[in-house]
Amino acid sequence: MYDMEIPRCELCGSKNEVVIYDKNEIAKKRKLLGVVLYNQDKSIIHGRNVVCVNCGLSYITPRMTEKRLDHFYKIDYRKAYPSHGDTKNIHSVNAIQYLKNNNVTGSLIDIGCSDGSLPRKYRELTGEYVEGVEKTHNEYDFKVSSDIELVTEKFDIATILNTLEHIHSPRSFIKKVRKILKPNGKILITVPNLYNNFLNIHLDGFFSNAHIYNFSIKTIVELVTISGFEVIAADLVNESIGSKIYLLAKHSENINNSISKFGEEAVKHLLARIEATKVLQCITK
Ligand SMILES: [Zn+2]
Repeated sequence: MYDMEIPRCELCGSKNEVVIYDKNEIAKKRKLLGVVLYNQDKSIIHGRNVVCVNCGLSYITPRMTEKRLDHFYKIDYRKAYPSHGDTKNIHSVNAIQYLKNNNVTGSLIDIGCSDGSLPRKYRELTGEYVEGVEKTHNEYDFKVSSDIELVTEKFDIATILNTLEHIHSPRSFIKKVRKILKPNGKILITVPNLYNNFLNIHLDGFFSNAHIYNFSIKTIVELVTISGFEVIAADLVNESIGSKIYLLAKHSENINNSISKFGEEAVKHLLARIEATKVLQCITK
């Protein structure tokens, strides 16, 4: 149904990967046990979640091609994952507070602005100029472009909340965001944390088929650094489905390409965390 491809690691280009969560295997085991499947997005072929041994980036393989992914977001995504207005509201409040705590001010563009709650709230509080980027159609009272390449203004702040994990090529995406920032412009990115305390969330939900990437603080910091940013702050913030990474970075003229080694020991440690969670979830659910 969907055109699939086998990717290389987006961060370091390696093909040295280890499976950390395989929904096919888990689905087969559950079927044998007669357990009902937890599967929202029936339209997608299950990929395996792997981790790159070289750099630690976690991603899905095989995955949809960019063209098919675009089609999926325009047509099927909201059918599989209905929008939760309340959750979006909490994210917006937290993001605005985070910007305030870090003394970040000025015009703002929200990439993947969904129902528009973040730009609207930010404008109410600060009186600053706001815009958004969103593929699916909504009603807005500010300018919203359907693609980042159609944006013509330059901004002080770009916010990318809970979006980067869904993007086919986050590296080229961040470079596009960099082009619509002023020389001292900043980005605020929030993503789910691969090193979450998984106790309160279901692993199948965390390793969602719609999350092409799962970031840690290490991999998100390196991704923005090699894309032309200097990191100002990286924090963990507890939200409804576990801890989120909040990353604030500023536009930099220097591009630093260094990526530190992850390695076999770190892979073992990550696998042990996920295995321990499976055991705990069998006991508690
Ligand atoms: Zn890698």
